[in-house]
Amino acid sequence: MKFGTKAIHAGLEPDPATGAIMTPIYQTSTYVQAAPGDHKGYEYSRTQNPTRHALEQNLAALENGNYGLCFGSGMAAIDTLLKMLLPGDEVISTNDLYGGSYRLFTKVFAQYGIKFHFVAMSDLANIEAKVNDKTRLLWVETPTNPMMNIIDIAGAAAIAKKHNILLAVDNTFATPYLQTPLDLGADIVMHSVTKYLGGHSDVVMGALVVKDEALAQKLYFLQNSCGAVPGPQDSFLVLRGIKTLHIRIQRHCENGRKVAEYLKTNPKVDKVYWPGFPEHPNHDVAKKQMRDFGGMVSFTLKTNTIAAANEVLTRTHLFSLAESLGGVESLIGHPATMTHASIPKEEREKTGVVDSLIRLSVGIEDVEDLIADLEKALS
Ligand SMILES: *Cc1c(COP(=O)(O)O)cnc(C)c1O
Repeated sequence: MKFGTKAIHAGLEPDPATGAIMTPIYQTSTYVQAAPGDHKGYEYSRTQNPTRHALEQNLAALENGNYGLCFGSGMAAIDTLLKMLLPGDEVISTNDLYGGSYRLFTKVFAQYGIKFHFVAMSDLANIEAKVNDKTRLLWVETPTNPMMNIIDIAGAAAIAKKHNILLAVDNTFATPYLQTPLDLGADIVMHSVTKYLGGHSDVVMGALVVKDEALAQKLYFLQNSCGAVPGPQDSFLVLRGIKTLHIRIQRHCENGRKVAEYLKTNPKVDKVYWPGFPEHPNHDVAKKQMRDFGGMVSFTLKTNTIAAANEVLTRTHLFSLAESLGGVESLIGHPATMTHASIPKEEREKTGVVDSLIRLSVGIEDVEDLIADLEKALS
């Protein structure tokens, strides 16, 4: 089955009781048993729920995996996965990681004796240099936020295989429509479902997808033991969102490209960060592992000050100033004072997060209107 067909059909059966074509919202905590242990596959909704199950099956199919697990947020998915590690274990991750992941690693799991290394993973040699006999996990995020760096997933997988380390990829920015890390040798794919998969800025949810059965069993055990599961209503909303994932992402990509190209021509704009440009330092890797380049675009201003950035951020109308990304509506954000505010100025500037850096989540509105909105804000 091809992607669009899977998005609409994979894991979904008409409701056996009524024939309802849409998966019902099974708003129930428990399930009647005919005799102790004699049930229809569902005992208690922390362990499993039919609406959530349909979504988990659908996500597994989209990522070309065998097992999907949903969580109450992206952070809950990462939290559960990290509980596979033990004190003394080490993790290697990227130095421009999503801020929430960085906080969970350094402020929560570091307290339990797990050690984290952060390196510029776009250069695979930097990963190899940190591997030792305690390394258990490579945590990759690509494209990265907000600098749009690209990490070679197949290259990272080769390092992971060689040293018998797990490779997890945060696939939130690309979505399985653009990139399927399990096909490139990753063991685990993670999503903030909140973003493109949900797609309508109305749900917070996370997910993990794996191929390997033994790994899936460990994660199911942790999912059920720790209990950070999403409810059936949210699962229904995401199933509904995913039905249009392929056409939404196509439009996000088309609009992202046109906005990136427009920004390059604007005299107020200094640099534009978008992996589709041939001069992007990791463009070749992006072309190799992604089917298109997505709708996330960052740029800086020639006047590199917070005040200049604020002029733009407060003068757009269609681009709403907000955290998050991946919804149908366009958003604009200021990493230096929003997502990356907790990182000292010298530290964030080392990775390119300068005062005038602006990040766009380009939505699926008519692109002429989006460009006009930016033109007005920049003039
Ligand atoms: C938003 C986000 C997360 C965290 O997900 P939540 O659903 O907000 O908990 C993790 N990684 C990336 C890349 C994100 O954008």
